[in-house]
Amino acid sequence: MSHSKQELLVRSLVRKITPYVPGEQPKIKDLVKLNTNENPYPPSPAVLEKVKAAVDGRFRLYPNPTAEPLRVKLAALHRCKPEQIIVGNGSDELLALAIRAFVDPTTGRDHTVQSWERRTTVQFFTPSYSLYPVLAGIHGSRPGGFPLEADFDFPGTKALKKSRGWDCHAALTFITTPNAPSGKGYTTNQLKEICLLMRGVVVLDEAYVDFSKQNAMSLALKCPNVLVARTFSKAYSLCFQRVGYMVGPEPLISALHKIRDSYNVNGLGQIAAEATLDDLGYYRNNFARIIKTRDSLSAELSKLGFQVTESQTNFLLVHPPGHTAEEWLGLLRAQKILVRWFSDPTISHYLRITIGNEEETEKLLRAVRLILGGKAPGG
Ligand SMILES: *Cc1c(COP(=O)(O)O)cnc(C)c1O
Repeated sequence: MSHSKQELLVRSLVRKITPYVPGEQPKIKDLVKLNTNENPYPPSPAVLEKVKAAVDGRFRLYPNPTAEPLRVKLAALHRCKPEQIIVGNGSDELLALAIRAFVDPTTGRDHTVQSWERRTTVQFFTPSYSLYPVLAGIHGSRPGGFPLEADFDFPGTKALKKSRGWDCHAALTFITTPNAPSGKGYTTNQLKEICLLMRGVVVLDEAYVDFSKQNAMSLALKCPNVLVARTFSKAYSLCFQRVGYMVGPEPLISALHKIRDSYNVNGLGQIAAEATLDDLGYYRNNFARIIKTRDSLSAELSKLGFQVTESQTNFLLVHPPGHTAEEWLGLLRAQKILVRWFSDPTISHYLRITIGNEEETEKLLRAVRLILGGKAPGG
């Protein structure tokens, strides 16, 4: 069978998909890696100990299918019932499950459902997490991006209500809060207004909320249509283990449980996340360090002529001086510093820089000064 014939074995929808491109994980020695918003600090020693102690004959057995002990701990933390929580293989898995649970595909026909009853739109603001449109495409639902204001703030709800581009009846609305890639934070009141406007489900994606002034967990605990997504990846130094969760009203959470894989969260990930919750003091100390580094880096870069977007996350979105953002990507890389640049024209004049530790931040600033002074190779 020829290659092109083999391709025809794949569904046409899948053939047409442009997959999500994650940030690079290069294996270059001494590289300062500030491109994927990972935490510069390791997990707490207690977490590493508990994970190591679990590496034994238990590998033979399946893990807890619903991550029950972890859900019980999370429920105590957020003051809700374990039934209001689902744990996933990273929060990415849960974002995909939400689309499958709440949104109809535009393709295929279900004759038991009237066409006016089908709700096919997955809505989100742009720019925000670039995975949302990819997940919508995979499911065969309709992605609807709506532009944020020039300063990455929300358009007012009055404007949204009137706008033809915004659908108050969208089956599912994703809101990255604080926003990525801008770093901009939103108040609980702003989020509440949008949640009240929406007839469908709203997922508040709080991947970076531990670096922010406010969180919107109260909305997931009060509103009938709101879910909050959280992750252990960024703030809790656990990207490698893939653990995220959603909190919200029981009927929505149980719909997600119905369609997930039976053993969707691996055993070591469950153990690591539980141990994390037993040592929150360690992590809160790291949040404070990262926020302090963020604010001083922001001030330094501003002095050097960068336009810095106000951030409530562990990264900065900056508009650099002197060269284009894409050129800066290459110039910094030549100095063994890796940051993120997005080709999307709405943000292609920016760089996204993850907050590293103090030493990495010094290295970054040294490289920036060299480049601005025209003293860096190729600069
Ligand atoms: C990193 C990130 C996620 C995914 O986190 P995982 O739990 O590692 O899958 C979700 N949403 C946003 C906005 C993110 O930046």
